[in-house]
Amino acid sequence: MSQTITVKIKLLPTKEQASILKDMSKEYISTINSLVSEMVDEKKSTKKSSKDLPASLPSAVKNQAIKDAKSVFKKARKSKYKTIPVLKKPVCVWNNQNYSLNFTHISMPIMIDRKATKTPIRALLVDKANRNFDLLKHKLGTLRITQKSGKWIAQISVTIPTSEKTGTKVMGVDLGLKVPAVAVTDEEKTRFFGNGRQNKYVRRKFKSKRKKLGKLKKLNAIRKLNDKEQRYMKDQDHKISREIVNFAIDHNISVIRLEQLANIRQTARTSRKNERNLHSWSFYRLSQFIEYKANLEGIKVEYVNPAYTSQTCPKCHEKNKAQDRKYKCKCGFEKHRDLVGAMNIRYAPVVDGNSQPA
Ligand SMILES: [Zn+2]
Repeated sequence: MSQTITVKIKLLPTKEQASILKDMSKEYISTINSLVSEMVDEKKSTKKSSKDLPASLPSAVKNQAIKDAKSVFKKARKSKYKTIPVLKKPVCVWNNQNYSLNFTHISMPIMIDRKATKTPIRALLVDKANRNFDLLKHKLGTLRITQKSGKWIAQISVTIPTSEKTGTKVMGVDLGLKVPAVAVTDEEKTRFFGNGRQNKYVRRKFKSKRKKLGKLKKLNAIRKLNDKEQRYMKDQDHKISREIVNFAIDHNISVIRLEQLANIRQTARTSRKNERNLHSWSFYRLSQFIEYKANLEGIKVEYVNPAYTSQTCPKCHEKNKAQDRKYKCKCGFEKHRDLVGAMNIRYAPVVDGNSQPA
């Protein structure tokens, strides 16, 4: 079992290098787009090689463009030419034979005076935790360079071997607003994660700041504030997902079960689920973070049908509605209601396909 991830690294090209990368990225996608439209016209894959392409790109990069164009064409053909993708975002790609890296630079051929020249570009490869560099010791795939809100980013795909856990221990995790996450293992070990009340407080503060700035029509400041809020939420999700996976490791869990998220367009649910729908994008992200971190540890993530997970009594399977934060059943069972969700998620029917709908 292995897992392919993308490691993102900030690049610090010189002005000259940046302008070369800009030209090359434009050239790269226009090469792909014209190859694709040729193939679509002829209704067959191209036989062209790098020599046949006039683009001002290193031949290795041209070969990568041909490869990318062929896979775009394949998709178009599969759709019976109903959708013919046109790439818009400038990007340039090198295969793993054509770049190298050390602690401070990534080197790859770029076009200098119309000649492909291997050039080191400064890169922030070593972060505080040394995490990027550790990941880059594994098997490297393609290097993609692109610009994101004005900043140059290198994306390197890395294949990491993971050994799948062989046990059968299952843990259910329920995501919520008041309590961001609750986990229960099949040995009834329980943990609550995150601080819903604090999140609510922070978000309310952001909201009131935004309102003030709105009255003053400070659009730029509002945008910055929104970015800050997004970063805060994302950090929380990273933290919580890390804690959940660590808890799973501590208890030798081999399968984590999460609720399959309801379609956002779906309505007519109980109020709790409606409240959840509004927030399903954030549950989606947290689920993705959990899945990603768990897989790196060889822990499988399965998604279960969310029907009645919050109502069914884990002891006698009677359905009850929770009052406030407490769940009570005639059989005598009584627990925090989010705990009931996690307990039921452990043994709820797993949804086919095993992944979250995007
Ligand atoms: Zn009961």
